[in-house]
This record gives sequence, C-alpha cells and structure tokens, in this order.
Amino acid sequence: MIPAAKPIIGDEEREAVDRVLRSGMLAQGPEVAAFEEEFSAHVGGRHCVAMNSGTSALHLGFIAAGIKPGDEVIVPSFSFAATANSVALAGATPIFADIDPRTFNLDPDHVETLITKKTTAIMPVHLYGHIAAMDRFDEISTKYGVKIIEDAAQGHLASLNGRNAGEFGIVASFSFYPTKNMTAGEGGMVVTDDAEVARTLRLLRNQGQEIRYKNEIIGFNTRMTDIHAAIGRVQLRKLPGWTSTRQANAEFLNQNLQGVVTPYLAPGSTHSYHQYTIRIPGGSAEKRDAFMAGLTAKGVGSGVYYPTPIHRLPSFNLTLDLPETELLAKECVSLPVHPSLSQADLETIVTAVNEVAASL
Ligand SMILES: *Cc1c(COP(=O)(O)O)cnc(C)c1O
Repeated sequence: MIPAAKPIIGDEEREAVDRVLRSGMLAQGPEVAAFEEEFSAHVGGRHCVAMNSGTSALHLGFIAAGIKPGDEVIVPSFSFAATANSVALAGATPIFADIDPRTFNLDPDHVETLITKKTTAIMPVHLYGHIAAMDRFDEISTKYGVKIIEDAAQGHLASLNGRNAGEFGIVASFSFYPTKNMTAGEGGMVVTDDAEVARTLRLLRNQGQEIRYKNEIIGFNTRMTDIHAAIGRVQLRKLPGWTSTRQANAEFLNQNLQGVVTPYLAPGSTHSYHQYTIRIPGGSAEKRDAFMAGLTAKGVGSGVYYPTPIHRLPSFNLTLDLPETELLAKECVSLPVHPSLSQADLETIVTAVNEVAASL
C-alpha cells in the first residue's frame, strides 16, 4: 500500500535527539533558540517563537495580536478544526466564510460581506500548501482596519509574488505535526514582524515570565522542548529539497491524471503540496468514497481533508449557507505526493486513478 502521508525520520534526527538527551538539558533551551533563528531565514527574517503545537501557536498568536472576547474573526469552514478552535479559545467568535473552489482557500469577496463593527481579524489558511489570496487580504485589511493572521500550519514555503507564507500577517502560525511538510514530533512556530508581539508571545508561553519568578502577566506553559527543536532543526534543513520533490511529484500527476480535476495554481503563487488534492466531479460523497475504495483495492492510499465543514461539527453546530464548502467536502480527495514516492509509485498512482475514474 502506498501511504497517503509518510514522515521521514533519518539517522540525523536520531543523532540530534541523542545529543540533547546526553546534554541533560531537555526542556526549552539552546536548541529551541537555534531553531527559531534558523526558521526566521524562511520567513523574511521575522521574529519566531516556538510552541509545543500548531494549535498553541494559533491560540497564543491571537492573544498576542490583541484579539479579545467579543471580537469576530473570519475564518474558512473548510479547514482543520484547530483553525476555529483557536479563535474560540482566545474568547473570540469564529465567523465562517466560504472558499474559492479553485484554490480551496478563503474567498475574499465573501469575507468582505461578513465584516461587521466587531470584526477585528481575518485568518486565511494556506490550505494544502496553496497560499491564500494574501494580496486581496492586504487590501481588505487596509480598507476596513482589520488584522490579518495566517494559519500557515500547512503553508511551509508556499509563496505569493516572492513572499513566503508567514510574511503577510501580524502573526502567522506554523505546525510541525508529523504529517506536515516538516515535523518536530509535535510543535508549532509563531512568526511576527512586531518585536512587542514577539515579546508578549515569549511571556505567554512561559507563565508570563522573562526573568524567573518575576511573572509580568498571566501565561501558559506551551514551551517546545529541546528534544523536539533538535528534530525540527534537522527537518528544516531538508525542507527545501523535500518541497522541490513534492512539486516534481505534483507536476508528474498534473501531466498524467485523467478524468479528475487536478489542483489549480493561482498566478504568482508557488504550491508546496502539503496535500495533492483533486476533485471527483458530481457533488456526491458516495461517488468520491467509491473512487477511494477503488484506489485502496489497487494499493493506493488517499484521504479526505476535510469531510465535515467545521461549522457543522458538533463542537460548533451551526446552520450556514456555504455552498462551495459543502460541495468540496463531498468532492475532494488527497492523493500521495510525499517525497518518499518512487517513480514506480507515481506510475501506480496514475494508472489506478485513471482506471478508477474511467470506471465510475
Ligand atoms: C495541523 C493544523 C493545525 C494544528 O496544528 P497542530 O500542530 O496539530 O496543533 C491548525 N490548522 C491547520 C490548517 C492544520 O492543518
């Protein structure tokens, strides 16, 4: 079976962990500081603050950006639950907007119709590694005086007009969960160009203290350990090469798949293919699920991200009219695109997809 996703862990990661274990200093320390410094080179030199997860990075990012109870934050419903959970955890209300069916990303036109006096932020998600329409969101930010915050959990090295994910919002949060384009085991990174926001983030993640026992504000413990940071540093060095391989794999699939809708690439964008997501036209989850069962029978793994829009999950349970979100939740399937695929794997995927699509 060709797996839908596969974290790559090598001897260098093992040696890095061993180095930390031998040092006897396990919690946040020099490895975390070095990881933050090295990550900064990929986000235009912005301040980087490591966290224990992408969700913590989003949650504390909202607090540090000044998002408060009573505020409304516009987010896509077509995303992972953490996108909206982090808004709610900061005490604000997530307002769900529809998506552009080409990119699967937040639709700026629909977002504009949802802005109210309570709207203080908009959080696009760079879903599947396709950068959101950040040029449009920059304009909307200026026009309405709202903050832009990026959910860059899937956006490592995705770019628009030469600017990487993480270089647009007042804060941007990345994830290092094992299935993401790089991992630290678990972990996250908040990126900001504002030194005060960065300082607040450092306080918030460590009980509100910069100097031990001189706590300035009420904070959390969302620190990253040096063990995780050591893994992340090795993976970060491999990320550009892995991203190129993902792009080459995607190009092969684009050229050879038939009978399905292959991913769109907006002008000026690079796609880092966290997921390679196709559409099975017809607006039928049953048809999509039959397609996936056909792939499984031919030894090709696949996944649906995400089968239920966030607003309809029991945790939010809202009735909203988001037609593109509803349609794509029924039509989308992600195929393997990860850097461990061999040429033979890619050919197996193409043959399986084309045969199953023709038989539906
Ligand atoms: C993975 C992910 C998160 C959460 O990251 P964790 O590290 O798992 O907490 C948030 N948003 C999106 C879009 C994600 O894919």
